[in-house]
Amino acid sequence: MPQAPEPRFGTFFLPGPTEVRPVVRQAMSGAMMSHRGPEFRALYARVQSGLRIVFCTTRPVFIATSSATGLMEAAIRNAPPGRVLALVNGGFSERFANVSVACGRTVDRYEVPWGSVHAAAEVTTRVRAGGHTVVSVVHSETSTGALNDVRAISDAAHGAGAVCVIDSVSGIRGAELCFDDWGLDYVFTGSQKALAIPPGLAFAVASDRYLAAGEHDRRGIYFDLAEFVAASEHDETPNTPAISLYYALDVQLESVLAEGMPAGWARHAAMCARTADWAARMQEATGLAVAPLVAAGHRSPTVTAIVTPGGMTPQAIVRGVAERGYTIGGGYGKLKGSTVRIGHMGDHTVAGLDGCLDACRQVLRALSQ
Ligand SMILES: *Cc1c(COP(=O)(O)O)cnc(C)c1O
Repeated sequence: MPQAPEPRFGTFFLPGPTEVRPVVRQAMSGAMMSHRGPEFRALYARVQSGLRIVFCTTRPVFIATSSATGLMEAAIRNAPPGRVLALVNGGFSERFANVSVACGRTVDRYEVPWGSVHAAAEVTTRVRAGGHTVVSVVHSETSTGALNDVRAISDAAHGAGAVCVIDSVSGIRGAELCFDDWGLDYVFTGSQKALAIPPGLAFAVASDRYLAAGEHDRRGIYFDLAEFVAASEHDETPNTPAISLYYALDVQLESVLAEGMPAGWARHAAMCARTADWAARMQEATGLAVAPLVAAGHRSPTVTAIVTPGGMTPQAIVRGVAERGYTIGGGYGKLKGSTVRIGHMGDHTVAGLDGCLDACRQVLRALSQ
């Protein structure tokens, strides 16, 4: 039976999938039920009300049996016809741009260096000049640890006549996002990042404005949001859902809601600050150039990319940390050779993170000898 060995709990700091509590994993062994019966509809209604709190919305939250990229593709397939302005600042926003191209859109890229964030005023200028109908943006760029101000960017898109579709895959639950209050159009996330559920479910909310203006001819079937709207009116999904993952979602939402969204955002912000403090102290104590890639003020609360000091490879650091019982991520895309990433999201705590950072400290010291 191919299975990962059982590590000590609280040691898995990959920026997705994130560590899943044993009680959530065990929930998945529940018996099957019909997805067209009252039992499932009750389960659906329960997770639905929890997810609405997570997204800060009173609108339906669509639940797809897919990884997050499925609802990224849905963002474009269901968007109003016309040109797309794709905001690119890392590997996942680049993927979002590529999805638009693959869906047959004409795409202009507003690119800033990896690790930077986008300027809302520039979005206004570009949409006015280019006549785009859709702006795509990533909230928390998991490849770099940069956090975009999606509220300001969405406002800018609206002011210039476009809708704004938002990837908050590693944002939701870790970084504040209020769908209704902020007047957003389309936001999606996945189960395996800050929500700390196994991979395989994706969640999205869409505004009436976005749904009404949407493309009608090229939606396909599986990610046609009209199908999700219709099914959700009966507390069902269009196709057979991953029922086992719903069991996990149900159990995990209880603890997400017990903590409360503002407390969850604060806990993630504290873990981000702790990681930056650690880097500053390391630099002071050792003279090694250890620093977050992203400038203060623009850091995602859920993930930090640390620039590796000269002469050390990310692979050697990740391996050394693993020998000390912790898992961290390597660099992503073009940052593969120059960064490591610590995913401080989901159910992790500052106290647990300290153990991981101490292992990183030992490895950096050992490698610098
Ligand atoms: C993980 C991630 C994705 C892709 O999610 P999948 O579940 O692998 O499809 C997209 N965007 C961001 C920002 C991510 O962190």
